Amino acid sequence: MERIKVLVSGACGRMGREVIKAVVKDEGLQLVAAVDKINVGKDIGIIAGLETLGVTIGDDLNERIVKDKPQVMVDFTTPALVMENLRTGLKAGVHVVVGTTGISPADLREIEELCDNYQTNALVAPNFAIGALLMMRCAAISAQYFSQVEIIELHHDQKLDAPSGTSIKTAEMILANRVGPSHPEIGEEKIKGARGGEIDGIRLHSVRLPGLIAHQEVIFGSEGQTLTIRHDSLSRESFMPGVILGIKKVIENQGLTYGLDHFLFKD
Ligand code: NAD
Repeated sequence: MERIKVLVSGACGRMGREVIKAVVKDEGLQLVAAVDKINVGKDIGIIAGLETLGVTIGDDLNERIVKDKPQVMVDFTTPALVMENLRTGLKAGVHVVVGTTGISPADLREIEELCDNYQTNALVAPNFAIGALLMMRCAAISAQYFSQVEIIELHHDQKLDAPSGTSIKTAEMILANRVGPSHPEIGEEKIKGARGGEIDGIRLHSVRLPGLIAHQEVIFGSEGQTLTIRHDSLSRESFMPGVILGIKKVIENQGLTYGLDHFLFKD
């Protein structure tokens, strides 16, 4: 069986290094290129804590695509860079798997167009942890029975954006299923922001602390009861089964897929 040729963009980052290890470990995949702006010229195996892999880190995405001919590009870079990388990959005929956050609805429309125009596929996944996807699904089901809910997301202190993409997607899924309106807020906010941010009556709270990875709690409340649904990513390994599944599925799923849940669940 031909192995799928993979390029990792943002290869030296916290997620990128984990993706390198997961790709190298998988018999169906072949790591052909690594791109980052740091450690250029070094072997990515050493940077990822493995043995030498014979794949040198490059800083020019287009050049690596032309030379190494990847079939799939995995991007874990920064919100400021991700769309440029996507354009480069999709226009060059490479399918993309994107974990980088900060992709707007307008960006999604552009990605869809690029996929159509260049006959390439894209998976944009706000969260690759399978447990997190189940947490979101359980929240969407629970929204049919509880109209009051708040979301608390907790992440490491290096995270660049707030609230997290996962918490926004969770709120959207809850809103799509919610039975009644949320109660109007009473009481005054003595310190601005004390009640968190808000999407259509759903309060979102972002905690940023060293020691955390990625965690989320969805708390529903009604008369005399609460229901708490919580997911914890305790290490970045938690995202890897989802990333590997994404690489294998993106090749056969035409156009843009938004959310790994489309590759996981039947309905
Ligand atoms: P990180 O800062 O550790 O890694 C980013 C990497 O991108 C770095 O190695 C950096 O050098 C590289 N980079 C930055 N600018 C570059 C440029 N101009 N050219 C080439 N490389 C460049 O960040 P991280 O913790 O690995 O997270 C990366 C992204 O993934 C973030 O947006 C984060 O929110 C997201 N994330 C998504 C999931 C998910 O499941 N979808 C999970 C974790 C993190």
